[in-house]
Amino acid sequence: MSSFVVALDVGGTSMKGGLVTRSGEILRTDRRATPRDRGPAAVIATIRSFIDDLAAAGGGTPEGVGLAVPGLVTAEAALYSANIGWRDIPATDLVPLDVPVMLGHDVRTGGLAESVLGAGRELSDFLFLPIGTGIAGATILHGEPYGGSEGWGGEIGHIPVFPEGEPCACGQIGCLETYASASAVARRYSTRAAASSPGAPGSPALPPSTGTSPAAVPVTAERVAALTASGDPLATEIWGDAVEALSLALATYTLLLDPSAIVLGGGLAEAGTLLSAPLAERLQQRLAFRQAPPLRHAALGVSAGMLGAALLGWRAAGFTDAGTTWSLDVLKSPRVA
Ligand SMILES: [Zn+2]
Repeated sequence: MSSFVVALDVGGTSMKGGLVTRSGEILRTDRRATPRDRGPAAVIATIRSFIDDLAAAGGGTPEGVGLAVPGLVTAEAALYSANIGWRDIPATDLVPLDVPVMLGHDVRTGGLAESVLGAGRELSDFLFLPIGTGIAGATILHGEPYGGSEGWGGEIGHIPVFPEGEPCACGQIGCLETYASASAVARRYSTRAAASSPGAPGSPALPPSTGTSPAAVPVTAERVAALTASGDPLATEIWGDAVEALSLALATYTLLLDPSAIVLGGGLAEAGTLLSAPLAERLQQRLAFRQAPPLRHAALGVSAGMLGAALLGWRAAGFTDAGTTWSLDVLKSPRVA
C-alpha cells in the first residue's frame, strides 16, 4: 500500500472523507453525517472516529491529515463556528493519531483545490464562488487563498446589493445571499408562487376552505432553473433578480481586485449557461471602462473541499508542492458519494 494522507471536509450536514496518495490517486472516499444537533463534542468524536476508520482502511499510518472546517480557522485550530458550535479546538484534538495535521477554512480549502488542481490551475488571481445554501467566496491571490487579517475574508454573500430589499438571516437588509443563493432562489419562488395562488391574501376571494390555506409549495433552485428555461414568468423574474444581485457584487469585486477569472461552483452553477450567460452580460454592462473577467465553471464539484484537505494533509507532511502534477481526470473519477 502506498503512502497516503487522510482528508476530511467537515460540513454542517455531512463530512466527506478520502484517502489520497502522494501522486493524487484517491484510494477511497466515504461520507458520514455531521451530528451537529448533538453538540460540538459529538461532532469532534465523529471526526476522530471517521479519521481512525479511514486510516485503518488505508492499511497503515497516514503521512498527515488535512481538514476543511467552517467558521474562523487557523492552520492549527478551529477558532469558532456558529454552524457547529465549537470554540478554540486545537487541530490535535480533532485527530486521534500522532501525525502532522493542518486545518483550513472550508470555502478557502475548496478554492485552494480549484487553484492547484482545477479550474484555476493556470490562473494566479481569481475568485472561487460556490453558490449553494449560502454564498461565500475564496479570494485567490498568487495561487493561494487569502482570508484577511482575522480570517473573516470572503463573506461576499453579505455584501448589500439591494439596500431597500429583503431581510437577511445575518440581520442586515438586501444581502447578495438573500437573492442569489440556491436556497434563496427556491424560497423566493415558493413564497411568491404561494402568494399568487387562488385563496391567498389579495387574490380573488374563494369560499372559505376547510382550514387548508395554500401553503408554499417547496421547490428546488434546480426546478426554478428549469422553469426559467421554459419561460415561466415568475421563475424568470426570480432568476433575473439572482443574476442582477450577482452582477452587482461581482462588479464590486472586479473593480477592487481585478481577478483574471471568476470560478462559479455550487448547486446554482449547475444551471450552466442559464446562469453564466446573462451574468456575464450584466457584469460587462456594469464595468464601463474595462473588460469583465471571464466566468468559468468550477472543475472539482463537491469533491473540492476534500481534495483541498488532501493538499493540506500533504503540506502538513512537508510536501509543499503537493498536487502540482496530479491529473484532473483521476481526481474527477471517484466523486465523493
Ligand atoms: Zn446577510
